Amino acid sequence: MEDKVKNEVRDVEENKAGKSEESSDDFIIEGMDIVRTFKMGEVHVRALGGVNVKIRRGEFIAIMGPSGSGKTTLLNQLGLLDTPNSGKIIIDGTDTSSMSDREKGKFRLHNLGYVFQDYALLPELNASENVYISLMMQGKSKEEYEVAASDILTAVGLGDRIQQLPSKMSGGQQQRVSIARSLAHSPRVLFADEPCANLDSQTSKEVLDLFQKFNKTKGQTIVMVTHEGWHAEYADRVIKLKDGLVES
Ligand code: ADP
Ligand code: MG
Repeated sequence: MEDKVKNEVRDVEENKAGKSEESSDDFIIEGMDIVRTFKMGEVHVRALGGVNVKIRRGEFIAIMGPSGSGKTTLLNQLGLLDTPNSGKIIIDGTDTSSMSDREKGKFRLHNLGYVFQDYALLPELNASENVYISLMMQGKSKEEYEVAASDILTAVGLGDRIQQLPSKMSGGQQQRVSIARSLAHSPRVLFADEPCANLDSQTSKEVLDLFQKFNKTKGQTIVMVTHEGWHAEYADRVIKLKDGLVES
């Protein structure tokens, strides 16, 4: 029995060592030739003009570029919040192009997490309730989702504010609740669109430190849009957009 396990471990290690070129298994997201245009009256705005991106498992990516360069549009395509006109998005081996809206919704609920600039918390729900909604929707038991919400709120430093309403919290605290919500179901990828845009620099640093903590200790893959150079320094790699194309 032990020999069998040892052999399996050896096989896995040899397999790893033998992989000289990167295979698509190494990428959690592959976006191929993504085009997204918006129709404004008679005018077509080309927000993304054929973008190719590959993001590795466990990477912390910053998407940068001037206002209007397509950062939010790209994040929304990769995060399955919008559908491109053409192109392909593969997430953890699953080709999402042929999914129906319903299938996409289910995939998002189980596999993806989001943090927005304006926190997007439900004002009538307390911190715990805001955090456990997605776990409840996944069909977890009450005990399970309450414990999970309490654990993750403690991990973001809000263990003493579990019952508090968003209106009684500072912007930084609200953003930490939204980070707890985004991570409660252990998503494969966390997407964040300018998460610090409404925060002062000290609070921004606290939020970025949290992202870094989950990235380094849990291997959480993070894709974050920002236009601040010092925010991007937290990332392993920067994808720079200009006029709807990857510049570098
Ligand atoms: P960024 O996040 O880099 O500021 P966006 O992705 O929001 O840029 O927008 C890229 C371009 O697409 C801009 O020209 C913007 O006006 C346009 N755009 C984005 N979303 C829409 C929409 N829903 N309707 C029309 N135009 C849009
Ligand atoms: Mg934007």
